[in-house]
Amino acid sequence: MSHKEIRVRFAPSPTGPLHIGGVRTALYNYLFAKKNGGKMILRIEDTDQTRFVEGAEKYINEAFKWCGVEFDESIGKGGKYGPYKQSERKHLYKDYAQQLIAKGKAYYAFDTAEDLNEIRNSFEAEKKTFVYNAAERSKLNNSLTLSEEETKQLISSGKEYVIRFKMPENEVVVMEDIIRGRVEVNTSVLDDKILFKSDGMPTYHLANIVDDHLMEISHVIRGEEWLPSLPLHVLLYDAFEWERPVFAHLPLLLKPDGNGKLSKRDGDRLGFPVFPLQWKDPKSGETSRGYREDGYFPQAFINMLALLGWNPGDERELFSMDELIEAFSLERVGKSGSKFDQEKAKWFNHQYLIKQDDEFLANKLMPIVIKNGVLAEKEQLTKAISLVKERVSFVSELWDQLDFFFKRPQEYDEKAVKKRWKAASYDILLELKELLENVSDFTSENTETVVKQWIEEKEYGMGAVMNAFRLLVVGALKGPHLFDIIELIGQEETLERIDQGLHELGRKE
Ligand code: GLU
Repeated sequence: MSHKEIRVRFAPSPTGPLHIGGVRTALYNYLFAKKNGGKMILRIEDTDQTRFVEGAEKYINEAFKWCGVEFDESIGKGGKYGPYKQSERKHLYKDYAQQLIAKGKAYYAFDTAEDLNEIRNSFEAEKKTFVYNAAERSKLNNSLTLSEEETKQLISSGKEYVIRFKMPENEVVVMEDIIRGRVEVNTSVLDDKILFKSDGMPTYHLANIVDDHLMEISHVIRGEEWLPSLPLHVLLYDAFEWERPVFAHLPLLLKPDGNGKLSKRDGDRLGFPVFPLQWKDPKSGETSRGYREDGYFPQAFINMLALLGWNPGDERELFSMDELIEAFSLERVGKSGSKFDQEKAKWFNHQYLIKQDDEFLANKLMPIVIKNGVLAEKEQLTKAISLVKERVSFVSELWDQLDFFFKRPQEYDEKAVKKRWKAASYDILLELKELLENVSDFTSENTETVVKQWIEEKEYGMGAVMNAFRLLVVGALKGPHLFDIIELIGQEETLERIDQGLHELGRKE
């Protein structure tokens, strides 16, 4: 297979917003393609018209654009294997289904839904389950039990039919999967799946195999939920006498607190998004949160997803997209599912946030500042951000960490006052104010030297003075290095804040 061009695809059905598990599948395909100089294709699988959801296709495109997964061929980009949407390839599939009939690998079935229901019920009455398979097909209404003539007549009379795969009886199907190794299944546990429906559309199975073949897909990398379909798929390749692609079934993304697939409900329950972008359901109007709207950086989101199931084999955790491409291999994708970890997701965002340019962050924060009714100079805001960004994971959390740079204390934290505003505080802070009034170089470094020297000379006790000082400047015992704060707010403002604090808190008895 190595001589062939590497071509992979992501093939979502537009049935709603894309789950982050789907984004991860697309990402692994993308990394694999880029790493190996191959092509990445986006194919929309919309043959099930009953599950079509308005806006889902647009959402898929927007999500990948946001997080930087690019396609070489797609509806928008075009390509020589198009169209890239199955409903526009509709005319292709029937012919392939008929080829299988001609080869004796598939057959027409005329059983109506009512017929099948009746049989199902009678099976159930005997506590058995009905399966359309080798044991039963000879008793049912299909082109294997009818004569060729009868079959032709039924079809030309307009009788509805489906085309089913004739599952071989009691054969062992052997499959290879890069992640799971060799997998074997006996066909006796499988059924005669419908390949072509009475509405004139192929089922997922037929369309998927035909398209993967026509689009010359070399590697099928997809979620583990498709593993049960793999025997049918390889049997279809064999029936067509087509070369099978290489398969890799990725383990599931699991709930943070246990087993089972990560679902939207887990996100709602534990407070994190399971979709890349916000999604508003067109029918119910219900809105689900997205990583983008929750303030994640696309690179952080991608970095986090890449490591949920794959590891580089060493301790590294931070990867740009290019570094991921460089390091990625399917062999390093684990066999077992990965538990989603919300704290880790935030950690990644924090890592990306602290690497951002402060001015870039200031631009992002400015609307929040304005919403809080504060006029802040961009330069001041940028400096304030540089002092506090180590403390947050999201831009939206910055305001709480730096609002005091732009607002005088409206009140003084009660607990802090009780603990830190002592009988001697008033006089000491008054003295400190006088000291600071006479400092001409108000840089953090200089005020720190001057103030600390004075504390030592007077033997006031570092903690006692600094906590009371902070209380007056900030209103609480929080914030970065105090001398950095006063440098940024300036001498005049610092003195006024001390004044205000002395006035508000007064002399403690
Ligand atoms: N249309 C399928 C899906 O929605 C594609 C599965 C596959 O990759 O074969 O996931």
